[in-house]
Amino acid sequence: MTIVLASLVAIGVIAFILSVRAKDLPQPEPVSPFHHLDERKAAIYENLRDLQFEYRVGKLSDQDYQQTKLDLQRELAAVMAEIDRVKAEIAAGKIPAPAPAPELVKTAAARAPAKFICPSCKAEFAQPLKFCGECGKPMKAAQA
Ligand SMILES: [Zn+2]
Repeated sequence: MTIVLASLVAIGVIAFILSVRAKDLPQPEPVSPFHHLDERKAAIYENLRDLQFEYRVGKLSDQDYQQTKLDLQRELAAVMAEIDRVKAEIAAGKIPAPAPAPELVKTAAARAPAKFICPSCKAEFAQPLKFCGECGKPMKAAQA
């Protein structure tokens, strides 16, 4: 019985350490200019959910509930307005649009490989060749 309890505590401690470590890891750079606003919006929604839950289980008075809900809704409206403002600035070209993820850039480059065209028969090759694989003529002047 004690061994079971001890191992349960150990598992709990390990899980706690792991979760703390994960939180300590540096966050990657936000890819979107309103990424942090989206996060704030999500946090407010979560607070609203928690608030409703606490009110339902009777932890909050009517007045506290209404007041906190009003504050959160006001904060949410401000965040939404800020998101709209940032989006409008992107549309107006004042802020560069979010950069595409590096994976997307790589895929785009792979989709358009460099082309080497035979000056004699116009055959296309993905890699530079000394002689054309189609007509056999020299491809010294390989062009991209
Ligand atoms: Zn050729």
